[in-house]
Amino acid sequence: MGLIVQKYGGTSVADIERIRNVAKRVAKHYDQGHQIVVILSAMSGVTDTLIDLANRMTQSPDKRELDVLLATGEQTTAALLAMYLKTMGYPARSLLGFQAEVVTDCSYGNARIIDVRANQVRKLVEDRHIVVVAGFQGCDSEGNITTLGRGGSDTSAVAMAAALKADRCEIYTDVDGIYTADPNVCSKARKLDRISCEEMLEMASLGAKVLHIRSVEFALKHNVPVFVRSSFNEEEGTMLVNGEQDMERPVVSGITYSKKDARITLKKVPDQPGIAAKIFSPIADAGINVDMIIQNTRAGGQTDLTFTVPKSDYQQALQIEREVAARIGAESVRGDDSIAKVSVIGVGMKSHSGVASRMFTSLADENINIIMISTSEIRISCVVEEKQAELAVRVLHTAFGLDREE
Ligand code: ASP
Ligand code: MG
Repeated sequence: MGLIVQKYGGTSVADIERIRNVAKRVAKHYDQGHQIVVILSAMSGVTDTLIDLANRMTQSPDKRELDVLLATGEQTTAALLAMYLKTMGYPARSLLGFQAEVVTDCSYGNARIIDVRANQVRKLVEDRHIVVVAGFQGCDSEGNITTLGRGGSDTSAVAMAAALKADRCEIYTDVDGIYTADPNVCSKARKLDRISCEEMLEMASLGAKVLHIRSVEFALKHNVPVFVRSSFNEEEGTMLVNGEQDMERPVVSGITYSKKDARITLKKVPDQPGIAAKIFSPIADAGINVDMIIQNTRAGGQTDLTFTVPKSDYQQALQIEREVAARIGAESVRGDDSIAKVSVIGVGMKSHSGVASRMFTSLADENINIIMISTSEIRISCVVEEKQAELAVRVLHTAFGLDREE
C-alpha cells in the first residue's frame, strides 16, 4: 500500500458526471488501501471564462485580484469532489492552496513554488482521509493568493508528491499518455510506455502540451515517479523515468512541432565586435525571448543575422530591429511569421551519429526546405514553412522508425 497523489485535469472534471467518475476512481484506489491525495484543475474552460470576466471588468485587471479570481476555478472542483466523496461515504476533505501550505514567490499569474509544507495534508492522510487539494494555486509569504501559470496544476501535483514523498504521482488527463508525435497530426503516432524527464522537458518546451514544464523539472529534481494516463480508461499510460534507464531504446523518441515563433532577419550587418549586443539588448530589454539565432558571414565585412521570437512579440521585435538597423547601418530588416519549428528528440542521440543527416535527407526527399537549424544534446530542430509542418512531422516519424505497426 502506498501514498498516491492523483491529479485530474480540466477535461476530467469538466462536468458533474465526470467529477462523479473521478470520485469513483479515487474511491477505488482508496478501497485498495492506498492513501490518496487528489489535486484538481478547474473545469475545462473555466479559467478562460474567469480571465474573460476580468477583462470585461477592466482593461488591465490588477494582478493580485486576478489571481484571487482565477483560484476560484479550482476551489469549485475541489469542493464538489469532496462533497460527492462524502456522499459516497468516504472521509474526504477539500483544502485550498494556502491550507495545504503551498508557499510560492509573489509573481502573480506565474508564481513559483518555494515550499510545500502540507502539515494538514499529512495529518489528514494519516487519519485515512482522502484529501482533495485545489491545484494551480498557492500563497506567498505575506498570505496573498497566487497562481502558478496556465496548466500549473500539474506542478501542484508533482510538488505535493515530492513534499509527501509519495510513492507515485498520477497525472490523469484526456489522452492515454505521451505520444511519439501529436496523434492529431500523425495518425501513426504511438503511445510511449516510458520517456525520460530530459526528453519530456524538451517535448514540453517544443510544443507538446501534455505537461506543465515545471512539473517535469520537479519530477527530475525530487525523483518523483510520475505517470501520465487517461481518466477515461484503464490504460497504463506513460511513465516518466529519471535518467537513461533502458538503453535499448530508439535513437529518437518523439517528433514535435510548434508554430509559436516568427523569424526576423537583418541583412548586411557590419561585421564588428559589439554588433550582436546592439541587436539583442533592446530585444531583451523589451522582455522578448529569443530562441534560435544564426549568423552567416558574407564577403566584404558584412553578415546576415537571423533569429526567432514568439509570434506574439513579432511586431514589437520587428519595430525594435528597424530602429536598430538604422542605427548600426544594416541594409534591411525582414520578417516572416509563417514558419514552424519541427524537432526530433531522443536521449539516444548522445551516443548515436547520423541523426541530423537522416533528418535533413528525409525532409529534402519531400521537398521541404529547411530555413534554420538548431541543436541541443538530445534534440535537432529545423524551421520550415508553416504549411509544411504537419507533413514534416509525418515524414520524420516514418524516417526514424516510430510509426505504429498496423
Ligand atoms: N486551471 C488552470 C488552467 O486552465 C490550471 C490547470 O488546469 O492546470 O490553466
Ligand atoms: Mg494541463
